Amino acid sequence: MKSKVNNADHFLSREFIIWDFSASHDPVLRVSSGETILVQTRDCYNYAIQTEADLIKTIPSSEVNPATGPIFIEGAMPGDTLAVTLISIETGPRGAARLYPGEGQLHDLVKAPYGRFFDVADGVVRMNEKVTFPASPMIGVIGVAPESGSISTMPAGMHGGNLDDNMNKAGSIVYLPVKHEGALLALGDMHASMGDGEICGTGIEIDGEVLIKVEVIKSVGTSYPVTQTADSWITHGVAFEDLTLAMKIACEEAAGLLVDQWGFTYEDAFIFLSVAADLGIAQSVHPSSGTVIAKMSVPSISACPTPFNI
Ligand code: CA
Ligand code: ZN
Repeated sequence: MKSKVNNADHFLSREFIIWDFSASHDPVLRVSSGETILVQTRDCYNYAIQTEADLIKTIPSSEVNPATGPIFIEGAMPGDTLAVTLISIETGPRGAARLYPGEGQLHDLVKAPYGRFFDVADGVVRMNEKVTFPASPMIGVIGVAPESGSISTMPAGMHGGNLDDNMNKAGSIVYLPVKHEGALLALGDMHASMGDGEICGTGIEIDGEVLIKVEVIKSVGTSYPVTQTADSWITHGVAFEDLTLAMKIACEEAAGLLVDQWGFTYEDAFIFLSVAADLGIAQSVHPSSGTVIAKMSVPSISACPTPFNI
């Protein structure tokens, strides 16, 4: 199917979704390495929020985060890395953010469910009469079939999933570790904007269209996904309700790449990361009951311009 909109090699409608990452799903699209795909995504509430009244209704977590896919990439084999370039991200015209009593960094200030809509137009988000700010569209959920079993689209993990890194934006490349033939890529949970930490548990949840390019990189990889931006590359660490451990993993991933790919000693990687790289938080809704995500941003200098020396 050729998209008429932008000459992508393929088009994938938002009618094809999964609620968990698993090798058992039949692919809904087969593409070759190097091809482009225009992927439509649903909002994370699967369109359950349409009215002001809907903003405070309860939605079971099993009905959150539909991901469009899975896409089979020819030639992707276990041990390879799938590079997904986010060429462009176009949001719909309106998104929503919500508060849940008992969840998030400021949960003790919240007495009752609350939510609000945001209008998005011409690259600007409008919160209310006073508050407007630039849109910064990103993809919350992006992942491949995990090594074993099935993982819902709610947590993050080594397979990617709900990574909620706001650097997964237009122009970035997301590297995912392939565990099954074809990789079985799926993505969703677009945000018109989301801050580091996503402290209330939502970004500006919105639907949209993502133009991606997929490329198979043979025989290099990491344990967790890595994101490359114009001026940095970012490793991730994920842990269940344990931000300290998530940060340690993100640091270990970055040091591992500096040593394996760029010839650093562990001692010099340790020092370089301390003096030149930024440890940060992608996701910490504390005290939510899910995974928390740390990120280590390494500057793209000539000694280590990209995560992989290829
Ligand atoms: Ca998310
Ligand atoms: Zn989201």
